[in-house]
Parts: sequence; C-alpha cells; structure tokens
Amino acid sequence: MKDSKSPHDWVAKHIASLPKSGIRDFFELVNSMGDVISLGIGEPDFTTPWHIREATIYALNRGFTNYTSNLGDLRLRKAVCNYAKENFAMSCRPDTECIITVGVSEGLDLLLRAVLNPGDEVLYHEPCYVSYAPSIRMTHAVPVPVQTTEAHDFVLQVADLEAKVTPRTRVLMLNYPNNPTGAGLTLEDKKALADFAIRHNLLVVSDEIYEELNYIPRCPSIASLPGMKERSVLLNGFSKAFAMTGYRIAYALGHPAIIDAMMKIHQYSMLCASSIAQAGALEALQNGQEPREAMRTEYEQRRNVIVRRLNEMGLTCFIPRGAFYVFPCIRSSGLTSYGFATRLLQEKKVAVIPGTAFGACGEGFVRCAYATSLEDIETAMLRIREFLAEL
Ligand code: PMP
Repeated sequence: MKDSKSPHDWVAKHIASLPKSGIRDFFELVNSMGDVISLGIGEPDFTTPWHIREATIYALNRGFTNYTSNLGDLRLRKAVCNYAKENFAMSCRPDTECIITVGVSEGLDLLLRAVLNPGDEVLYHEPCYVSYAPSIRMTHAVPVPVQTTEAHDFVLQVADLEAKVTPRTRVLMLNYPNNPTGAGLTLEDKKALADFAIRHNLLVVSDEIYEELNYIPRCPSIASLPGMKERSVLLNGFSKAFAMTGYRIAYALGHPAIIDAMMKIHQYSMLCASSIAQAGALEALQNGQEPREAMRTEYEQRRNVIVRRLNEMGLTCFIPRGAFYVFPCIRSSGLTSYGFATRLLQEKKVAVIPGTAFGACGEGFVRCAYATSLEDIETAMLRIREFLAEL
C-alpha cells in the first residue's frame, strides 16, 4: 500500500507554486470593512445597457437555450468579423478565423495552451494584468517579463525586448490600452513591435479588451499590420466596452490554424459559450454603438478629473490613453505601494490596488480605477489629500 498522503499533496506542483492574485487578498480586506470608496475594482460601474439585457431575456423567452456551434453562433461570428473590420481594421472570415470564448480569460487560456510547448518562453510587459504569468506557467511555459517605465509612459520598448529575447522565445503578449497603467500604443509603437515580432519569428497575442475605451484617435490593431495576420491573435470581448462582465463572452480572431487548435481545446473543455450570452453580445454589436460611446465619454470626463487631482497632490501620473485606470507614483509619500494602499484603506476608507500586484516594477505606484461615479472620485480625492497631509 502507498503511504497515506496529505490532501495538499494531491495538488499538482506547478499549481501549488502559483501565487494567489494580490488583488484578491486586497479585496478580502476591503470586503471586511464598510463604507469604503473603491477605486479598486477593474469592472465598469454601469449596468449592461437595457437593450442588451432585453435581447438576452428575449432569447431566453423564445428558448434559445441549447448548445450553439463550438465556434459560437455563426450570426455572432459574422457580426464580430464586421465589427473587427470597422473598428480594428482586421479582416477575418467568420467560418475559420473567429471563435467565441467565455471571456477574454478563456480566450487567453485556450490560446496559450494551443501554441506553447513546455519550456517555451513568452515575453510580456510588466506591470500587466494579474493573470498573465500564472496562465503561462499553467502551460508549463516560461514567463519572461519585460519592465515598462514611467519614463516611456509604460509603453514597451523594443530595446528592452531585444535584451530578453532568446532562441526559445515563441510568443509576445501585449495588452494596450493597458491594465493597470492606462498606457496606449501609437501606430509607430505598433509598427516597431510588429517589426520586432517578425524579425524574431514570434506569435503576437494582442489582448485588446480595452480597445474601445480609447481617449486618443484610434489606430489599426497590430494584428492588421502588413505581415502580422499569420502571426497574431487578437483577443477582445464584451466585458469592458459594453459593461457585460457577468455575461462572460468574448472572441479571438486569427489564422485558421491557430483558431482551429484553440477550438479543439474549447470543444473538449467548454463545448461552447453560453447561448443566451451570445444573443446579448449580438445585440451589443448590432445596436450598442450609442450606449458604448456614452460610457466612453463618461470615463473620459472622470479620467480628466482624477488625473488633475492626483497631480495637484504630487501623486504624479501621465494622462492615460485608454482603459479606466490611472497609475500614479506614490513615492513622494515615503510609503511602499502596499503600505500606501493598506494605510489609505484603514485610515481613510479608500481602496486602491498596490502597483506590485501587477509585477515587481509596480513598486512606487498604485492603481486607481475610475469606473466609479464622479462624486465618489471627488470624495476619494479629498480623502487622499487628507491622508497625505496627515502622514
Ligand atoms: N485582459 C485584461 C487586460 C483584463 O483587464 C481583463 C479583466 N480585468 C481580462 C483580460 C479578462 O476579461 P474577461 O471578462 O473578458 O474574461
């Protein structure tokens, strides 16, 4: 008989060694307190526009409750491809180059599992979304973070990538507009990164979940640039731009060989995305332009207020180009990121996320989300001013 095991021993070694998300730990603290103004949550404060909810209810009413095709309802894939052409300058075929996924989260997981072999290296920028390094590790590949800095408004620099690329590098992961910094790419930036990817024969994973929440003139996706279509996958979804986080619905666009490989994993592990969520997503693409733009305009107004107030207090930040995050430098307070965030929460009941939750180079910064009302933002800014004065 084998020796008896501790239940902990059942957990696979590479999963046991994954850290828990720093954001989750922080929210456990926030949830244990009352009356907190949260600039912490990376989720729209708007309710999903009514016409989208109504279309979802209607789908339910008429019994649109069965599995759809594994790739997703063809009507939705057609609408996604039209939308991508109009909005991201990306031409894709709905039958072979598009898959509907359960959030960008699933799209990212499918894609990494579809393309990475054990030991392959993945370049990505830090600070970054908390799931990147763990998602890479779960495929037995190797995360290779590349620091971005305030000096370049947190835009990934080709020279820094050149210093980290090796013969084992297979993938370059990008997320612009960026969570947590609000950084965005110009067309020149995209061309330089595309040129780097072509030179080193890399696949580009472009997580563009905040693309529609852009406050600078939009430019084509990196995936649409010459020579990039066959080496890129564009991930986007409905969570942020259409305020549909709980719907869990998104899409991936790319070369048929990669979409097909993602499809294999999806059909065994997920089968298809929720049919009624797909009906809501179709309505969002067909008639959601106006509410989407109204939400974007509101975020832009909030961004202008929060950036001004933070800079006035000496918590310096550049003007974010997109998403709904600002990433002020808190070094003038003399505190660490974690110390700043925990003391601000305990002493003034304002929740912000320590920059270190997004990578070690986030030390000296905190993430403030402006997905909350202007009134709450103003109150939070007053409380932060008091907090700094009392330090
Ligand atoms: N990528 C980034 C950069 C994100 O910020 C998020 C959500 N916070 C996701 C992906 C996951 O989004 P979804 O709701 O589509 O799974």
